[in-house]
Amino acid sequence: MSCRSPFPRVAHIAAGIAGVALSLLPAVVGAQPAQRAAEPFATPNNAATPLVMGTTRGERYSRLVIRGATIISGRGSPGTNRAMPPEGPVDIVIENGTIVDMVPMDPVNAAGYGRDFQRPTGDKVIDARGMYLMPGLVEMHAHLPRPNGDLGPGGLDYAYRLYLGHGVTTVRDAGSGAGIELLTAQRKLSGDNALVAPRLVLCLRWPQPLRQWDEGNTPEKARAMVRRFQALGANCIKISKSPGQYPDVLEAAVDEGKKLGMHTMVDLKVSETDARVASNAGVRSIEHWYGIPDAALTGSQNFPTDYNYWKELDRFRYAGLLWGEADKQPERLSEVIDLMIKNGTNWDPTMSVYEDNRDWWRATGLPVKATLVHPSLVSEAPDSGAHGSFKTEWKTSDEINWKRNFAIWMKWVKTFHERGGLLTAGSDDGGIGGVQMIRELELMQEAGIHPIDVIRVATTNATQALGMTKYCGIRVGCAADIAVVNGNPIDNFKVMYGRGYGFQGLVPHNEQWKHGGVVWTIKDGILFDAQALLREAEWYVQQERARLSGKTATTSQQ
Ligand SMILES: [Zn+2]
Repeated sequence: MSCRSPFPRVAHIAAGIAGVALSLLPAVVGAQPAQRAAEPFATPNNAATPLVMGTTRGERYSRLVIRGATIISGRGSPGTNRAMPPEGPVDIVIENGTIVDMVPMDPVNAAGYGRDFQRPTGDKVIDARGMYLMPGLVEMHAHLPRPNGDLGPGGLDYAYRLYLGHGVTTVRDAGSGAGIELLTAQRKLSGDNALVAPRLVLCLRWPQPLRQWDEGNTPEKARAMVRRFQALGANCIKISKSPGQYPDVLEAAVDEGKKLGMHTMVDLKVSETDARVASNAGVRSIEHWYGIPDAALTGSQNFPTDYNYWKELDRFRYAGLLWGEADKQPERLSEVIDLMIKNGTNWDPTMSVYEDNRDWWRATGLPVKATLVHPSLVSEAPDSGAHGSFKTEWKTSDEINWKRNFAIWMKWVKTFHERGGLLTAGSDDGGIGGVQMIRELELMQEAGIHPIDVIRVATTNATQALGMTKYCGIRVGCAADIAVVNGNPIDNFKVMYGRGYGFQGLVPHNEQWKHGGVVWTIKDGILFDAQALLREAEWYVQQERARLSGKTATTSQQ
């Protein structure tokens, strides 16, 4: 599944932002008695109303200090899947994009510092008392929207804001309609802090151009295509359904990529190439789950006699039975998992994009759609010409099959993690991948993985899979890629949603931001006001709603 939001087309939700501009002093800001009054504290631009897109920029400081946060390092013991527990409060010093000091400020340590001790200060100081600080999330599977596509003229900037607004600092794109020329330029602008965007890792999708089936369909043509990808500036190769999934063609592409320093991610679908073939060929990551249960079967998939792969309803309906079929011989599944671990193959399951299969009505009623989700994603009807829009009939039995499918899938995701496999988190979205990344964390917890491990999975596991060694979590010497969260994500991942939407309905709209949300996102030491960026995303959604209904937006802005 790809290129599609899990949000189905339902009745238009006219809603949302109260137009009342309350003057709200951020609860997170306030002078501590021991602090010098003149210190330059960061103030979140956080109010109840939307904010015009383009207002907020990333700010670079020569010395940025975060005071009093509880840290989740995203690190663990080498060679194990044991992650470090929270510690705090800690003062963190960032210089030139790198963490250079971490000072424990708990009562026992602080008592030993002596009378002359002064807390670290800088040219910007964040008061993070009561907050949790974790490494920036890494989205391992995005499809960024192209400008002037379904998500409107600012769709790409809207997507970037949802990512940064949810603490995502790195996005690996798995092939985008935005085009490699535009995205390589944006990758550079983002790196130079000339664009409000996460760090971009760009995989080019094969075949490219899309649906030109005579491109890259032999080993020789595949090698030539990979060389062309490199010349175009891609970091990596994304292989999906035919022609790449003939095993010899895939092996040639992976091999050519390795010579050029490009890794390969694969979406195996139902093809000759299963997880065993792909892992042995040396792909870096297996996306979703296709090809894993298939590799454990003793024979063919038990599809009905009138099954046709290219009928989307067939594909997704009968995919819902595959894990159950393979799990009848768990020892064979176990062997496939062990092979992936032995070969160092990363598994990026992207559970969130399949979730509407197990509970269609849940997907139709999510509260976040009232404010942060683009109208074209709120209202997506079944469409036989669009990938993933197959629910022309989706029966009780389909949902039940997918619930069972999920349970078995999750069992093997957990097993892969427990045995030391390199698990990562991705949304297979792009437009609203920022929101869906948080959902992916929740689904990993549902799979039985401890939330402290889930954070490691979604941060330093991913940077390891991408070979980004300086992004090594919260530690002196590591790059300062950080999310500062207004709440404890280990206790409840819902605190990371949007503007405190996990608490929607419990408190008035204009007070939700006090209850959760990522407050600051720091990318290479550059400070982004996460809530201000989400206010901009809300503004864009309002503009787009008005554009698509032919009216002018009348929202109040500030
Ligand atoms: Zn995809």
